Amino acid sequence: MLDTAAIRKDFPILNEVVNGHPLVYLDNAATTQKPRQVIQALVHYYEHDNANIHRGIHTLAVRATEAYEGTRRKVAAHIGAASPEEVVFTRNTTEAINLIAHGWGDRFVNEGDEIVLSLMEHHSNIVPWQLLARRRGAALRFADVTPDGYLDLDSMRALIGPRTKLVSVVHMSNVLGVINPVAEIATVARQFGAITVVDGAQSAPHLPVDVAALGCDFFAFSAHKMLGPTGVGVLWGRRDLLAAMDPFLGGGDMISVVKQEGSTWADLPHKFEAGTPNIADVIAFGAAIEYLGAIGMPAIRAHERDLTAYALEQLLAIPGVAVQGPRNPDDRGGAVSFTVDGIHPHDVSEVLDAEGIAIRAGHHCAQLLMRKLGVPATNRASFALYNEPREVDALTSALRDTIRRFGHGQRLAV
Ligand code: PMP
Repeated sequence: MLDTAAIRKDFPILNEVVNGHPLVYLDNAATTQKPRQVIQALVHYYEHDNANIHRGIHTLAVRATEAYEGTRRKVAAHIGAASPEEVVFTRNTTEAINLIAHGWGDRFVNEGDEIVLSLMEHHSNIVPWQLLARRRGAALRFADVTPDGYLDLDSMRALIGPRTKLVSVVHMSNVLGVINPVAEIATVARQFGAITVVDGAQSAPHLPVDVAALGCDFFAFSAHKMLGPTGVGVLWGRRDLLAAMDPFLGGGDMISVVKQEGSTWADLPHKFEAGTPNIADVIAFGAAIEYLGAIGMPAIRAHERDLTAYALEQLLAIPGVAVQGPRNPDDRGGAVSFTVDGIHPHDVSEVLDAEGIAIRAGHHCAQLLMRKLGVPATNRASFALYNEPREVDALTSALRDTIRRFGHGQRLAV
């Protein structure tokens, strides 16, 4: 496992005391904590380099532009992009997917076309396609989920056909933790001339990602789930597709020439980055990528896999606890959803918070999946590179206490 004692020294917030207990932060699928290196990059930028980018020729503007574009190069290298020009900065995964729905979808999706998704998608990979389908007269199709928490690949294969224009699927589910066979799906989609979009919000932070090996056409993720600041997302797209797309937002910085009768667009990727971007946070995201790279994504994956294996074993040993998603830690990441017999997830979460343990409760922006699982909500513990087995122990011991105190079948009154 990783040297978490050393890693934790880089994360000041992990020293917080919450409700009289040392913080046990297990809500990393919602957002991760930030190392000092990222926080310092933000401070350094505002104290030394702050200027608008791509516009000035003065020294600070050049420094800010170089640092901003430096992050683009780091991101490109981190995900195996062919060129930094294929990396577009957005606000988050949600905006990246909306960008595709508008820029590609409005141009290339027509009446009668089909968009294939799955029942385990996050709302940000459902609603933009619903809106697109409504605008263009297209139809959505949803691949099923198996009872043991995998994507039903047969049902997905059966849905992809000559009418399919686009397949969009989550790489790693934020609820089930399952890692989907994106490369296989992209191969099937390509046979029918359809493009594949991958929601990488949960995979980019936790797995080595190589977009070339995945064979997808677009890959979207958020900086804030991978040690970076909020307000920065990434859309990677194949150059030829990005080049053929319309801009999503119009304004400064995304044009080449503006005339009364119309405008022409800037080169990639600037065509998709209208207005002053989130300069400081993009630069600090560069520090996050460097931090992840220094430890190494394979080592991070191995650490989180072992932690997840331990958590699954410990949770499944508690009578009354049911875990959603695959049992095999090789098939999944560290977002572990569970329910406790007779105790509402919100109540479980509230009791755990009193012990300083931060987990998530709710539908996790995956209402289609909740309906499929037949539950209104789940609890979710989710791990990152700084989590330790003792934190899994804190979680399971607090859960055992909760069940003991309130008994089975009784709803907790908090
Ligand atoms: N997809 C998945 C699988 C997610 O887990 C999330 C975040 N919970 C998103 C998309 C959306 O990310 P953001 O809110 O950063 O746009």
